[in-house]
Amino acid sequence: MNYEIRRIENILKQKNYKITNGRKEIIKLFVKNRNNHYKPEKIYDLVKSYNISFPTVYRTIEILKKSGIIKETIIDRDRYYELQMFSKKSLHLHLKCMECGMVSDYIDTKSILYLLDQKDKIEKQHEMVLNNIYTTFYGICRDCRR
Ligand SMILES: [Zn+2]
Ligand SMILES: [Zn+2]
Repeated sequence: MNYEIRRIENILKQKNYKITNGRKEIIKLFVKNRNNHYKPEKIYDLVKSYNISFPTVYRTIEILKKSGIIKETIIDRDRYYELQMFSKKSLHLHLKCMECGMVSDYIDTKSILYLLDQKDKIEKQHEMVLNNIYTTFYGICRDCRR
């Protein structure tokens, strides 16, 4: 894990971005919790004790996204971020709990291949270039059903 954090820091340094303590903490957060999907507000909550402002959190997210380190998913107009680098999952589907808002991954090769197939069809039929596919299933998670 430390190796991964160092790799990410090196990538940012090469792009001439400063690695502040706050930024380090955000990188650590994504690497340590690679299955989590964070909203910017949540990230701010978790790192604000490192003297980092909300605009800085936002700017760091943008930098990490542009560098291909994290990935953005939009669910219900909210933006969620998760680790993309070092992660074997590429395109995947999301599950969202309507009670607690928890977002998790649903990874199924068959569904992905089906979606990619649809993507090709849609691009041809509608003469549109598709950049992204966001698919979310909604329900109530196990914890909330207890
Ligand atoms: Zn829940
Ligand atoms: Zn995900």
